[in-house]
Amino acid sequence: TDKLLDIKNLTIHYKTDNGIVHAVENLNLQLGKGETLGFVGETGAGKTTTALGIMQLVPNPPGEIVSGEIFFEGEDLLKKSQEEMRNILGDKIAMIFQDPMTSLNPVITVGKQIAEMIELHQNVTKNEAMKKAEIMLEKVGIRKERINDYPHQFSGGMKQRVVIAIALACNPSLIIADEPTTALDVTIQAQVLELMKALKKEYDTSMIMITHDLGVVAEICDKVAIMYAGNIVEYADKNSLYLNPKHPYTLGLFDSIPDLEEEQEELKVIKGLTPDPMNLPSGCTFHPRCPNASEKCFVHKPKMHEVTPGHFVACFLYEG
Ligand code: SF4
Repeated sequence: TDKLLDIKNLTIHYKTDNGIVHAVENLNLQLGKGETLGFVGETGAGKTTTALGIMQLVPNPPGEIVSGEIFFEGEDLLKKSQEEMRNILGDKIAMIFQDPMTSLNPVITVGKQIAEMIELHQNVTKNEAMKKAEIMLEKVGIRKERINDYPHQFSGGMKQRVVIAIALACNPSLIIADEPTTALDVTIQAQVLELMKALKKEYDTSMIMITHDLGVVAEICDKVAIMYAGNIVEYADKNSLYLNPKHPYTLGLFDSIPDLEEEQEELKVIKGLTPDPMNLPSGCTFHPRCPNASEKCFVHKPKMHEVTPGHFVACFLYEG
C-alpha cells in the first residue's frame, strides 16, 4: 500500500515525582503518501508528544516510549539508533515549530542555515548548497538578496518562511508542523498557510499539522484526527468530519467555535475540565464531560469503529 506512516499501539508516559503522566495511550494512526493530516485537540491531549515520539525526540527522562511501533516508509523508527535518526531528521522528516526561533540560529545568516541543512544530507559542494538555498528562499517568497541577513532582520512571518525553506530544503517525505501559524497575526497566518499549501502540493510532501484551530484544518488538511486524553477519538476525511461530526467531543469542539455572524456574550467552551493525565477517568476518558454518557461509559473503553467508509469513531453511541 502507499502508507507512509503507520503508528501501532503507541504509548508514551512521563514519569514524575507525583506519578505517571499518560501522555499517549495505545494510539493507532496511519498517514498515506501526499496526505495532510490535521491533528486536533486541546492542550495536553498528547498531540505534540505523539509528534515528538515519531521523531524520537521525547525527552528521556522523564519521558519514555513504553510500547508501540512507528513504521515510516516500512521501517520501525523505534528500532533506529540515534545516529540513524539524526540522518532521517531533516532529510526525510522535517519539523516546523510554533516559534521559528526554536529552529533558527540567531548568529548564522538565513542562507547559511538553509545551506547547512542541504550539505548535511546531500552530497553537494558549499557553493551548490548556497545556490540551492537561494532557490529555496525565493520559493518561500523572500528575495534572494536577503540571503546574508540574520534572523532578527526578518519579521515573525518571514522567519517562519525561512523555517519552511529549511524544512523543504531536502525534499522530505513528511513534514510535522506543530501550530506553525499560531504565533502570527491573522493576515500573516493566512499567507503562511497558503504558502505551505502551495509548496506541499508542489513537493508532494505528506504533512501532519498539529493545531487546536479547526479553521486551519479546513484550510489545509485532507484528513483529520481528533485527539482527546492521549488517544484519537475520531478520524475521517475532512469533508466527512465537517459535514458529519460524530463523537460528542468533536461536536463540542464545533460548538465552541465562536459564531462571527451572531454577537455572543462569551465564547462557548466544552463543559468540564480536561482530564488529569496522571489520573485518567475510567472507561471512556470523555465520560465526565459527555452529555450522552451512560453507565457503560464509566466502565468500558470504546474502541475505534468504522461508522461510514473511512470515518472512524470511538464511542458507544455508534456501536450498533
Ligand atoms: Fe460519551 Fe459514552 Fe461516547 Fe464516551 S463512549 S463519548 S462517554 S457516549
